[in-house]
Amino acid sequence: MKRKLLLANRIVTADAKNTVLRNHAVEIIEGKIERIVSLKDVNVSNYNGEVLDYSRYTLIPGFVQTHIHLCQTLFRGLADDLELLDWLQKRIFPFENAHTKNSLRLSVRLGLHDLLSGGTTTILDMGTLRHQEVIFEELNWCGVRAFAGNCMMDQNELYPSFRETTDWNLKTAHDLAKTYHDSNGGKVKFGFAPRFVLSCTEKLLKETKEMMKEFPGSIFHTHSSENQKEVETVRKLTGKENIEYFNSIGMLDSHTVLAHCIHLNENEIKSLKSNSVRVAHCPSSNLKLGSGIANVPRFIKEEISVSLGADGAPCNNTLSAFTEMRHAALIQKPIHWPTAMDALTVFRLATIEGAKALHVENEVGSIEVGKKADLVLLDLEKADQPIQGINAQGLSEDERVYSAIVYSASKENVKAVLIDGKLVSENGNCLLYDENELVSEGKQELNELLKRF
Ligand SMILES: [Zn+2]
Repeated sequence: MKRKLLLANRIVTADAKNTVLRNHAVEIIEGKIERIVSLKDVNVSNYNGEVLDYSRYTLIPGFVQTHIHLCQTLFRGLADDLELLDWLQKRIFPFENAHTKNSLRLSVRLGLHDLLSGGTTTILDMGTLRHQEVIFEELNWCGVRAFAGNCMMDQNELYPSFRETTDWNLKTAHDLAKTYHDSNGGKVKFGFAPRFVLSCTEKLLKETKEMMKEFPGSIFHTHSSENQKEVETVRKLTGKENIEYFNSIGMLDSHTVLAHCIHLNENEIKSLKSNSVRVAHCPSSNLKLGSGIANVPRFIKEEISVSLGADGAPCNNTLSAFTEMRHAALIQKPIHWPTAMDALTVFRLATIEGAKALHVENEVGSIEVGKKADLVLLDLEKADQPIQGINAQGLSEDERVYSAIVYSASKENVKAVLIDGKLVSENGNCLLYDENELVSEGKQELNELLKRF
């Protein structure tokens, strides 16, 4: 049996009591957290297994991001300064439509490199219309924890060649779910992904929801109420507001993750709450596309599930959980007062609340005995961080650690990342890929893709 003892200066557990431990070690057996012990109670020099000495660093749970588009990473920087529908019509739909298996594979690898090196260890990915098997192959190969599915589109007024028939979409999803749901030892699960109302017929939405029953533990993942023009078009098409429409056709329950949820009426907020719907909040994307600001403080007050996602690289343009935490906190303050969205609340959205949104809180999202060892080590003893070892302003240093993580830290402070106790990134380098190779192959694939554009 493979044992590892990971030594940390501080462990920020994100458990129900927000416990922070000092000078403790996490013992990992078979990829799981076996016990968490004080360094006083363990004989490190005679430990019967591998010792990972990170005793200078702060240990936190791996981040969970609940709205990602890996297929778009190759298009980073190629769709700036546009509003959603133009962004889709002029850039993203034509780009995704031009993907070959090879260009898609590069896009996914670039995205995973970025996510893993930044401490994200679980994702919900939206997928793309065609060649989705490539995304699953890459997810399985790299060992990230993920929900993913082919992005379903059976109508498309904005860019008509980027769609397939209803039956094609459904059959593709069914075949992929049969192959990949619960694959890689249960780490990869299916996330049914009808893109949004404007690209999905009612038949497609309803039959997708029905199909989910065959795949327990799968997720229904779509966009909702992101942009004013989108909401107006949904109203014209259905006679209803976006979430009222989803509710009327039975799409809403605790396995539904809706990205954005910005333009909502009172009745829609009630529907989110009464159906236990999960909101994936993407603040950077919402700002960059000028979409608006979701009323996250209200959702939290109503005990509606909120978690964070970077969305796609071309609307962000980073995939960093740190950037999302920072924006999630800052964008609310001019509206709701600076006391809204404090650092601890936001840190929990990026970790345990993400796990709860996907129903994997028994496996990940916090550092507790019995959970998977998906862990991130941060170097906070740096000149760009709050001075450590100080109790001040009525707060202990351990209470102030959330301020460091949310307001000061970035990907640059990530020392190491582990999934199932296995090191996947160290000193900002994802160990699974050669970064130089990714960049040069990415250049080649993007050049080819732009010729087909
Ligand atoms: Zn999205």
